[in-house]
This record gives sequence, structure tokens and C-alpha cells, in this order.
Amino acid sequence: MCKGICRRTYRGIVVTLCLLFSLYVILYPYNNTFPPAVNCPRGFYVKAELRPHLQRPPQDRAGQGAGGSAFALQPMSPEGQKEKTQGFAKSRFNQFASDRISLHRDLGEDTRHPDCVEQKFWRCLPNTSVIIVFHNEPWSTLLRTVYSVLHTAPAALLTEILLVDDASTDDHLKKPLDEYVKQLKIVRVLRQSKRKGLVTARLVGAKAAQGEVLTFLDSHCECFTGWLEPLLARIAEEPTSVVSPRIVKIDKDSLKFHKPLPGLHNYSRGTFDWKLTFGWDHSPPNEKIGRKTETDPIRTPTFAGGLFSVYKSYFEHIGTYDDQMEFWGAENLEMSFRVWQCGGQLEIIPCSVVGHIFGSQSPYNFPNSSFVITRNLVRLAEVWLDEYKWFFYRMDRAAAFIFKNNLFGDVTERHKLRKRLKCKSFFWYLKNIYPEVHVPDVYGKLENAGQDCCLNVDDRKQQQQSLQMLKCDNTCGIQYFQYTVRHEVRLNPDNQWCLHEHPGKFLVSFEPCGLEGQETAATPEQVWLFTETNHLKNPSSGKCLTVAGRMVIMSECMPTRLSQSWIFL
Ligand code: UDP
Ligand code: MN
Repeated sequence: MCKGICRRTYRGIVVTLCLLFSLYVILYPYNNTFPPAVNCPRGFYVKAELRPHLQRPPQDRAGQGAGGSAFALQPMSPEGQKEKTQGFAKSRFNQFASDRISLHRDLGEDTRHPDCVEQKFWRCLPNTSVIIVFHNEPWSTLLRTVYSVLHTAPAALLTEILLVDDASTDDHLKKPLDEYVKQLKIVRVLRQSKRKGLVTARLVGAKAAQGEVLTFLDSHCECFTGWLEPLLARIAEEPTSVVSPRIVKIDKDSLKFHKPLPGLHNYSRGTFDWKLTFGWDHSPPNEKIGRKTETDPIRTPTFAGGLFSVYKSYFEHIGTYDDQMEFWGAENLEMSFRVWQCGGQLEIIPCSVVGHIFGSQSPYNFPNSSFVITRNLVRLAEVWLDEYKWFFYRMDRAAAFIFKNNLFGDVTERHKLRKRLKCKSFFWYLKNIYPEVHVPDVYGKLENAGQDCCLNVDDRKQQQQSLQMLKCDNTCGIQYFQYTVRHEVRLNPDNQWCLHEHPGKFLVSFEPCGLEGQETAATPEQVWLFTETNHLKNPSSGKCLTVAGRMVIMSECMPTRLSQSWIFL
């Protein structure tokens, strides 16, 4: 009997284990994926539940900058003038004015679209850590940023404010800051001992953050009424979203906060050009992008990158940042491309309004600044742009130099990330996320990386223009080519001849180009991909353009073979 029970118990355990194991196998793919499910209890937050940590003190309506107004000019003493000039030189904005405006100024009436003002939120918003990185930020702008969060963000949703010091050298940001924030309870100061830039500083904050969501702000911002809830609501609804507020200008001269104008609701979105410079343009009309209400998010190809919210777990899932990017620049485009290509989305939430001081042309005071910024850009181009990186290298000679001389560091880990997340191509991104982009053609000589020679075409032959490798400064042939968006290599100047593979024969020549007007060349033999290893590969045969002595042939692609590596000069 005992035996019977034991056997039954044993069988029971085995069956349970089997069941558990099958359940694990079935559910395993979901363990690894985002998003966390958010269960909403019924009902909306009432106003009292969304009270901030700190109420604003009574406002002096006649005070400088009150209600977000401009700092009023007044007769200035020579000392005042000197202070103003020095402040501008150091901070790139009118620090003199900022220092004389209340740290607690309110921004007046809520002028957002009525749909935003009336928007209600389900009682299920995640909480957030606000992370503000800074380097030598003036006291008044930094503290006004902090207070503006404490005066506006609902206490129930604000876990903490983390101030991350990127090794500032100004004294006021040391002990005085530590002492001051003690009274603010939920504000903490973290420090990078060595100045490494905003990427690693943000990572220090992200790592320490206790909130479910990370909200990053620059150290010279002011948050407008109701800015936080719409950001959190959107990511609760769509956890793979990375959301940015609508960023408005705080004037660098007068510190005037440019409030949303009632009745004027045209929105900007982030873009880029082939110098990989971030820019803004108008978002396409609502009908075209399927926006039904004013509270709907606006999809944006890129973002400014200083002000945004993201689930902490999604930030980690999607690969945080490229921590080899130094000081400043490029991390916003890197994150933009990565989020879109790897299955997330980047959005601007028009009901969330945050002001930012756009300083005058940046005298970035880090060594070798232009090299560092370009190096960051090359890192992103090498990981995310596929063959489109050539457009960038054509536009930016310094970038081409950094690329050619391998000065951009190791990007293996980022390539692994891209593979692990099964990210889509840059071609997909352009086609689906930024179809309005202007894609230039690439012109130039085609140099082989293995030797100091360029592709040369004998133009005296009418048909099957013959190819050979000659010195790059050769004058008795054509060495000028155009790589088109349809992935053709055309012979300049008449552009009627296309590089053409003769399948099965290992031969390649220039032949009349196939028909115009399609996305890729009409003739598969004339399609060439610039691969990540700089190969010119014909995708239909899978073979690569190869130098063999003075000749040019087609052969099996081998990633490390220099004779298959090409650079547009
Ligand atoms: N920052 C930093 N280390 C740097 C450069 C910038 O911590 O080496 C901080 C800076 O204080 C600001 C944020 O990073 O809070 C973004 O920099 P900045 O405002 O200069 O960029 P912009 O707004 O001009 O793009
Ligand atoms: Mn800034």
C-alpha cells in the first residue's frame, strides 16, 4: 500500500514537473521579451491624487520673468554688464538674467490644446526617476530645473530626482549642492569622478534609478503644467515607446518661456541630414499620419535626445547607449535609429510641454571637440547606417578620415546587439519611418582598400566598357562613378552605363542601365550592395567585386579580403 502511494505520489510529481516544463517551454519566448503587462484598475486619477511634492510659494507677479515672461532690461552698472558678459561666455545663455529670476517661477495659464488640458489618466501610471546630468551648470538654471519638476510632477509618480555630475569643476556644484539638496528629500546627487560626457553620466543615473520609468532632462529646463502624465500614459499604453515632450524654447537672452500658443498647433518632428546633423521639420498633416486627436503621439524619425521618458527595462532591453561615445553628440541619432530599427518607436507627445534653453553656438570645452563628435558619429554610422554610411563619409571628410584610419574604436558589441535584437536595415528605416528623406547619390572614385589603385574604365570602347585597376590619378580613362539610391554603380558623366555582372562567368563590365523609376535597378545584374565590410556585392549572385592583379572580376565574398574592399573617394 505504502508502495502504491509512493508510486502515485511519484507519478504525480513527474506529471506536475512535465506540465511545468511544457509551460516553461511555451512561455519561454515571452520571458525574454518586452513589454511588462500593466493592469489598470478602473477609474481615472482625480486631481488630488496628482499633487506635486512641493507647492509653489506665492508668486511675485511683478518679479523678473514672472509667469514665464522675459527678463526686463534695466539700466546696468559696469559691474552688472561685466557679470552679464562673463555669464554669457561661460554658459552660452544669459546667466545674469537667470540668476535674477525666481527658482520657483510659475509659467502662467495652461495654454495647451483644450484636449490636453482635459485629458484624464487611468489609475495605472508607472512611476519615474528623473535623471538630470550636468557639467558646470549655473546654480540658478540647475535648481530651477529641479524645482520645476518638484512643483509639477505628481508626487505619487515621482520616485526621485537624480542629479548626475559629469565631473564639474565649479565649486557651487560640490559641497554646497550636496548640502542644499538634503532638504529636498527625494533629490540625490551622483557623481562621475572623471569627465566622460553625458552618455556615461546618464548611464550612471539609469543604473541607480529606482523608478519603473527613466525620465531624462537637461540641466536647464522648465516643465510646463501637466507635462509628466502624458509621457507616462503613452509608455504604459505602448511600452516599447521612447517618448519625448514637445520641447519649447526658453529664450537664451531673456529667459522667456515660449508657451504653446492657443489655437496654433503645428508640430515639429526630429530629422537628420547626411552630415548626420540633427534638425527639425514640420510633422506631416494629421490625416497623412493617422492622427485623430490632439492628444495622439507624433511619430518622429529622430529626437533631440536630451528630454525623454522610457521604461527602465526597455531602455536596458534596447541596449541603453553606446558607452564608448564620449562627451557630447551623436547619442541622440544613435538611439533614434536603434529604437526604430530594433522594433520600438520614437514619439513626441504634444500634450507634454517642457522648455529648454537652447544656448548659442556651443563652445564645448572638451579637448579635441570636433574630432570627438565626429568619432561618435562614425561609431553610429558603422553600426546602424549599412551602405548609407557612404553618403555620410562623402559629406564629411573628417568622418571619412576617422573611418579609413580606423580611429573610431571597437563597435563589435554594438553589432552583436543589433544582431541579438534582430534589428531591421537602415533601408527599412528610411522607407518606413522617414520616406521624405532626401537621399543623395554618391559620386567619386572607387578605390580598392588592398592597394593604392582605383577602378578605371577605358571610355574608347563603345560596348562592354572594359575595366581595369589603375593609379587613382590616371587621366586616360574614366574614374568617376555614381552610386545611386537604386543601388547601381553608374559610370559618369553620362550616367547611362551601369556596372553589370555576367553571372556564371566571373566577369563584370559596364552595360546600358536598366529602366529608371524603380526602387532598385531593373536588372538584377546591376544591383550592388555596399556591405558592412565595404564589399560591393551583387545580391542575386551573392558574389563580390574583386581585384585580381590589374583586372576586376567577380568572386566569392570573403569578409576579410582587402581585394574586395572598396572606398568611394
Ligand atoms: N553635459 C554633460 N557632460 C558633457 C556635456 C554636456 O553632462 O560633457 C550635460 C549638460 O549639462 C546638459 C546635457 O548634458 O544637461 C546636454 O548638453 P547640452 O545642454 O550642452 O546639449 P544641447 O542641449 O546643447 O544639445
Ligand atoms: Mn541642453
